[in-house]
Amino acid sequence: MQIYNSETRKKEEFIPHVAGKVKMYTCGPTVYHYAHIGNLRTYICEDVLEKYLRFAGYDVQRIMNITDVGHLTSDGDTGDDKMLKGAKREHKTVMEIADFYTKAFFADAAALNIKTPEIVEPATSCIDDFIKVIGVLKEKGYAYEAGGNVYFDTSKLESYYRFGDFTGDDLEVAVRDDVTEDGNKRNKTDFVLWFTKSKFDSQELKWPSPFGTGYPGWHIECSCIGMKHAGDYLDIHCGGVDNAFPHHTNEIAQSEAYLGHKWCGYWFHVHHLNTDTGKMSKSKGEFLTVSLLKEKGYDPVAYRFFCLGSHYRNSLMFTWENLDNAVTSYNKLIGRIARLIPDAHGDVDEEKAKELLKGFTAALDNDLNTSLAITALYDVLKAECSAATKLFAIEKMDSVLSLSLIEHAKASLSAPGENDVPDEVKALLEERKAARSEKNFALADEIRDKIAALGYEVRETREGTIVKRIGG
Ligand code: AMP
Ligand code: ZN
Repeated sequence: MQIYNSETRKKEEFIPHVAGKVKMYTCGPTVYHYAHIGNLRTYICEDVLEKYLRFAGYDVQRIMNITDVGHLTSDGDTGDDKMLKGAKREHKTVMEIADFYTKAFFADAAALNIKTPEIVEPATSCIDDFIKVIGVLKEKGYAYEAGGNVYFDTSKLESYYRFGDFTGDDLEVAVRDDVTEDGNKRNKTDFVLWFTKSKFDSQELKWPSPFGTGYPGWHIECSCIGMKHAGDYLDIHCGGVDNAFPHHTNEIAQSEAYLGHKWCGYWFHVHHLNTDTGKMSKSKGEFLTVSLLKEKGYDPVAYRFFCLGSHYRNSLMFTWENLDNAVTSYNKLIGRIARLIPDAHGDVDEEKAKELLKGFTAALDNDLNTSLAITALYDVLKAECSAATKLFAIEKMDSVLSLSLIEHAKASLSAPGENDVPDEVKALLEERKAARSEKNFALADEIRDKIAALGYEVRETREGTIVKRIGG
């Protein structure tokens, strides 16, 4: 598989540290509010990456943190603590906020068919790990205490900027007019590993440490949680592109200083979901959530389809019109798949199915090109082969795309309306089911004929029993 590595700014052949195994780290949500559908675009693309690596035969270990402490609203020195902001907004404690929005995040993710990583670790459960790593960084001379806080000394590194898209000039966050410079820092790019003294006097969560009672900075949590579970080498680190600087840059700085060697092989950054006012973000106040999509009558999976229609390295423009167009295409696709189901009996031609999957794997092998993978799905529908073979190939593709294709196609067949089945037919179907389970096929056939006399056709398919109005 070829994958674009933000660190080298090239598409590279993906070669994990240990053959056949992939250690994949994902920056998790900051749980002070609902995730917006922009955040969720990033998690959808990461989900496809994980599922495709598994499809390609890798044994994947996926790790995600939950940021429940330490994340400031801006990366300059004036930022507020996001968790405290959430707690104040809702008159709750920080932990109540964290618990509520962690659950909300995974409920939204589930509605979008995003798999929960095997390892999910909140920052607040790893304080000892952070203290240990910060202690080693101090011993090695990479960290210093000033004004009560512990800072990482970026001047000790041979190269601090690791993502070529950024230069020192872009990053003078600490010396912009609107940002108060933190006078404790030796270098403008230094960052806090551990806070004890800060403007957040009302900080609820504090822990004792050799550096004083306080709490961790945001960046240290991802390094430590990654190393805690994956050991000394990560294969892929994922996140939205806004995290490349300073968050991921700082993660590399502290992890490599601690380990003494290169930490992560590939950096996978998903570009933003934008609206007409720019990047969708919570700080602007108005943002769209999965619940809002549902309230407006959208199936969250159709939003997933919308996201997969564009490449993860292109920003994606959200408008209701764009979403509606995606919904129309999605519904048509489901309709076409549904039409295969009644004819999907007989054997699957596995050789043919393999051939059908070639376009799909070629698309995803080329830096996860999901829009071409969807084109490959339409090619399957047009192919010359049995419906059973087509459905088999579509099911395999959907194990990666997770668009609920077969499930929704089946549901559309038995949906109320045109195909609404009368109670009399339903009762006969139950009788027929019982006859079949007793292997009384003669009776089952008799019942099928009775159902046909009422104008309904029953078929057994690979997907189960299908009932359709004759000629419907
Ligand atoms: P947060 O909960 O703020 O820590 O962000 C969670 C993830 O969403 C991070 O990987 C961010 O980089 C990503 N993200 C934030 N805004 C957007 C956006 N508008 N489009 C896509 N991803 C985003
Ligand atoms: Zn992170």
